[in-house]
Amino acid sequence: MHHHLTTPYRDQLQAQRASLLAQLTQQRGGLVDRAEAQGRAPQPEESHAQTATERELAFALDERETAEIAAIDAALQRIADGHYGACTECGTDIPAARLHAAPEAERCIHCQEALEHARHA
Ligand SMILES: [Zn+2]
Repeated sequence: MHHHLTTPYRDQLQAQRASLLAQLTQQRGGLVDRAEAQGRAPQPEESHAQTATERELAFALDERETAEIAAIDAALQRIADGHYGACTECGTDIPAARLHAAPEAERCIHCQEALEHARHA
């Protein structure tokens, strides 16, 4: 793997990915601990609602972090393919300042904004 084309962002992406995975593992571990504690001592109705809310929150967090990990994986794949740094929509080079702030970015700011406007329309 060491002979692969590298960019300054490869290490940054891999570090981000590792820290997101650690966060996910920690969140899931914490929920399992609480679920086990509740399993040992059955709770009245209202704690069911609380557990459901916690579960929904965990899913929401999971979803965001899972999406970030997927974006990072896609960026690492683009590095491996030699396409990294070009907008996947229009092919323009993504400015270094943008990649520095968000190395997993797959679109230039114009295409990203267009996409977000379309989503919220
Ligand atoms: Zn673009």
